[in-house]
Amino acid sequence: MINIAIDGPSGSGKSTLAKEIAKRLGYVYVDTGALYRSIGLYISEHHINPNKKEDVIAVLPDIRLDLTYEEGKQTVYVNGANVGDRIRTPEIAEITSIIASIPEVRSFLLSLQKEMAIKHNVVMDGRDIGTVILPDAQVKIYLSASAENRAERRYNELRAKGIEITREEVKADLIKRDHADETRETAPAVAAEDAVPLDNSALNLEQTFEAAMEIVRNKLNEILPNRI
Ligand code: C5P
Repeated sequence: MINIAIDGPSGSGKSTLAKEIAKRLGYVYVDTGALYRSIGLYISEHHINPNKKEDVIAVLPDIRLDLTYEEGKQTVYVNGANVGDRIRTPEIAEITSIIASIPEVRSFLLSLQKEMAIKHNVVMDGRDIGTVILPDAQVKIYLSASAENRAERRYNELRAKGIEITREEVKADLIKRDHADETRETAPAVAAEDAVPLDNSALNLEQTFEAAMEIVRNKLNEILPNRI
């Protein structure tokens, strides 16, 4: 199977890019952030304090996650219920970043992610895909952009969903979450040594996609000449 790993900080445009690459190549797009967010949602809806590690660990066996893919769109179900856009709020993002630092939460999601990559050609995006989940991925991209750019994009995304928030709040949330993700002990959000860096601060969507496809083509041509 071909595995493409896309890591990078919040708001760098990983999911938009990963989705487009998956569509172009006919691969399955796996949004791993949605899996962590779904656990964050469960913790929130069950009024569990995310900072109480033991309490979070204790409910993991009660959580069943199912994934479906229709026309390239991933849907996550928690105990049979579609999480929908409830996982996309700033509150859930904050809780998620706290619980994502718990090693038991990460191992809870490990096999689900690895299995997807064994069964399908995937484009998987997250924070530790190239380092921990798919260290043997044929293509690894580390996508980043300046904090200003990332905050502006996330602000527009949230506003489009009708969420009331200011630019300053979005930027502060983003910086706080990135710091927590980058400094946690287990699977910190860092670029894999063999990842190709791509900074899209000065690139639009189309240019980002073209630059990423160039990386994908070069890598795949090295191992599978004339495949794409
Ligand atoms: O990518 P997204 O913003 O949806 O991720 C939400 C949070 O989930 C991140 O801030 C991070 O704490 C966590 N996450 C992670 N590892 C991944 C994907 C997401 O720790 N592979």
